[in-house]
Formats: sequence, C-alpha cells, structure tokens
Amino acid sequence: MADTDAIKSRLDVVEIISERVQLQKAGRNYKANCPFHNEKTPSFIVDPGRQSWRCFGQCSEGGDVFNFLMKIDQIEFGEALGVLAQRAGVEIDKGGDPEKTNLHFEINNIALKFYQEALLSTEGSLAKTYLDKRGVSLEIREKFALGYSPRGRDSLKTHLAFHGVDLNKATECGLLVQSDDGRVRDFFWGRLMFPIHDRRGRVVGFGARALDDTMPKYINTAATPAFDKRRTLYGFHLSREAIRASNEGVIVEGYMDVIA
Ligand SMILES: [Zn+2]
Repeated sequence: MADTDAIKSRLDVVEIISERVQLQKAGRNYKANCPFHNEKTPSFIVDPGRQSWRCFGQCSEGGDVFNFLMKIDQIEFGEALGVLAQRAGVEIDKGGDPEKTNLHFEINNIALKFYQEALLSTEGSLAKTYLDKRGVSLEIREKFALGYSPRGRDSLKTHLAFHGVDLNKATECGLLVQSDDGRVRDFFWGRLMFPIHDRRGRVVGFGARALDDTMPKYINTAATPAFDKRRTLYGFHLSREAIRASNEGVIVEGYMDVIA
C-alpha cells in the first residue's frame, strides 16, 4: 500500500520504539528486553537499516513500525495507520464509506441473530450434536455467539428481506452470493457459524465449518468493506490469544488455527 510506504519513509523505527522501550546500542542495531514477554537477557532487536524489529526470544515475532504499534497498544491496523500517518504528516486515503460500513455491521448482526436462532431450532440439531461431541458448553456457544446456517439456500435471504434489508447490501457483506443462474442465494448453508468481531465488538464477518464431508471444510466471509483482510488477520490473532488465555472455546480455537 502506497500510504504505508510513504509513512514508513518519513518515520524512524528506532525513534518510535525508543519512546516505549529502553533501547541500548548493539553494533549497527539496538537491543532491549522484549516488551512483549518477560525476560532478563535482551532478545528484542531493532534494526535501523531495515527499519524493523524482532524478538528472537519467546515471541520470535517481528515486523515494522506498524506491527510494533499495533502490538504494544493492542490496536488494529486502521488505528495504527491513523496515528502514524499523523506523525509522519501523510494524508491518508480513508477509503470506504463509514456509513456504508456501519450498515454492513448492522446486516451482519441481523445474520448473527438468525444463525443463533437456527442453532436452537430443530434444523440446527446436526450442529448441536457436533458441539455436544466436542464438549462445547452452552455458555461458550453463547459467549462466541455460535450459530447454524440452515441448508435451504434462501433461508437467510428470506429473513433479511423480511427485515427490510437491501439484498444488494447483504451481497456486499458476503452473506448472499449471485449463483451461476443469476439467482441470489445464501452464501453459507448447512454450516456451523462463527461470527468474527473486530476490536470494537462489531461483527465483521463469519467463519463457517461444514458438518458433513463438504469441502472446503472451512469457509469465511470474503473481503468486504467491513471485513478488511489485514485487520481481520490481526483480529483473528487477538481472538485466538483471548481464547487460549481463557483456555476454552476448543472448537473455536481449532477454527482459528485452520484459517489463521
Ligand atoms: Zn519477546
């Protein structure tokens, strides 16, 4: 992306990181105790030549000034972009229409509720059996707002139309898809549904697991204005951490591992 290159060319990774981490000169580079894990011997290296950082210890992770800010402040890419663009004095192309994006979150939310209800219905018994088998408690199902997409190809579509949702917008959200015969139908059907939230808790998309031998086993919402690939990868990462930390959500973790 041209924006990020322009920003990076005007900022110094050493300067940005040294505002948060006590850096020591080490040859051409700088080192410090890693701010992301506990350690007594510095394994966090900042390379001014490459304008990058890396933890050679437990994290074995690194990146540029964007990744650093996202990680240290626990913010998503868009937010880091805003902060660094301002510092660098670079005007960024905001892209996307915020109002449109809000509508997408709303539509995704209607879909989430629909999938949740379907999981509780008779039709959702296949998904329920699967969750029972994997030992996923009702509490976890609720917490992660798990759902089921009915097998009828028009189930969600009908529901959205009933709620006055513009079906073109729902297609933009990746919930509906135009099939070869020109008909608009549900994109997800017969699958266990995992809503994907952004850091602000808004539903940006869905991951979906097949409950039979259908391939691919896992599919997810294609890139849409509300579902930014870069941000979402980061979002997955965060949810995965959160899920691991709470040591629950067994199947959710499995899902994350497959697509992350
Ligand atoms: Zn580290």
